[in-house]
Amino acid sequence: MRRLDQAPNLAIATLWADALRSQGIAASVQREFLAAAAGQLPPDQCLPEIWIDDDEHLPQAEALLAELRQPPQHRWQCACGELVEGGFEQCWHCGAMMPAD
Ligand SMILES: [Zn+2]
Repeated sequence: MRRLDQAPNLAIATLWADALRSQGIAASVQREFLAAAAGQLPPDQCLPEIWIDDDEHLPQAEALLAELRQPPQHRWQCACGELVEGGFEQCWHCGAMMPAD
């Protein structure tokens, strides 16, 4: 077992753990019960944590988490050189679609 990271709330912790499991990484959310029962603990002591079972999955788990933390991409550069902003998926200059990756 290894602590991966702390989540800002239980909903996000659950989301992250689910995403990890969908990648084949055994993950669990800790402290959720403690948080529910807490009243004496300072708030930063009862934030949920993500733990993974297998240390070997750590680099993969960290990479996935970094991806999940990133806000959706709203800015991309088209092959024609135009910088497309504002969430558009099509270049307004040449009409090309946003690349899938
Ligand atoms: Zn373009």
